[in-house]
Amino acid sequence: MNTAATTRFSYEFFPPRNDNMVRKLWRSVGQLERLDPLFFSMTYGALGSAQKVSIDSAIEMHQESPVAVAAHLTCANASAFEIEQIAKQYYDSGIRRFVALRGDAADSTDGESVYGYNSAVELVEALRKLGEVDISVAAYPEVHPQAQNAQSDLAHLKRKLDAGANRAITQYFFDADCFLRFRDQARRIGIEKPIIPGILPVHDYQKVKAFSQRCGATVPTRFEVKFASVANNPAAQYRLSLDLAVELCERLVREGVDHFHLYTLNQTDMCLDISLALGASVVTPQLFSAA
Ligand code: FAD
Repeated sequence: MNTAATTRFSYEFFPPRNDNMVRKLWRSVGQLERLDPLFFSMTYGALGSAQKVSIDSAIEMHQESPVAVAAHLTCANASAFEIEQIAKQYYDSGIRRFVALRGDAADSTDGESVYGYNSAVELVEALRKLGEVDISVAAYPEVHPQAQNAQSDLAHLKRKLDAGANRAITQYFFDADCFLRFRDQARRIGIEKPIIPGILPVHDYQKVKAFSQRCGATVPTRFEVKFASVANNPAAQYRLSLDLAVELCERLVREGVDHFHLYTLNQTDMCLDISLALGASVVTPQLFSAA
């Protein structure tokens, strides 16, 4: 079993869409960077103005924070040339970490890439050509909704890792056994690289329920009763969400997990409390790890 002191964290943010969100993002970054995380990641919106905001936010975060930044990049809806230009822009700005994703096609529901790269495998191969980079890819303990079956999904994950990704970060899940079974199956087909659990604190139960239906994550039925019992009590809701996340992570720590990727939704308090409960400590700025 890991000791709590060896448990490390990375935190995912999304690009802010207005001034209020900008302020909230930087407050969150400032609070979480005191925990000396392994990296921050900035999600990528491929369409319209979201694209520029994503790129600018990742680069600004890299320039302003002592913590290493991983830029998410999706390749659906774009030509290979466009993607290579964006990757080069990140690289030239000093960003050396990426989360390489296919993303979802804008004009169809089947999620297939419209042109350029056909899947995240080809994006990983392209990013490797930039130079010394660290690449994460996505994994799906409950199987990607467009996968033919669980086996082909895992085989595809293996191709992404064999193409040069350093680790996989999972879609969020709420059942530790689901992750552990997935990790066992991955090991059985020869995946040896780290599979990092993606942890989503339940900030808003109804929203999580709705989003989970779309992305194929199962919300345990016991959550319904638990969240109903605290429906009109924000403090009790917070406590419940915190306890559920810590309980899930503690079980995974007992099974050898030493890195959690927290989906912050740009809200710091819960992620800070989860990390502290799992043994993270606040460091003084001069003790930050080299990014
Ligand atoms: P891929 O792994 O390339 O493919 C998705 C699935 O399709 C595979 O799991 C596999 O089952 C199947 N598949 C594809 N190609 C083949 C093949 N050749 N043979 C067999 N099966 C195949 N979305 C964003 O828009 N922006 C983000 O910043 C973002 N960040 C994310 C971060 C994480 C950690 C995760 C888990 C997801 C993120 N997403 C993001 C969502 C992601 O873009 C979607 O889940 C998308 O539908 C799939 O992208 P992928 O990289 O997993 O695709």
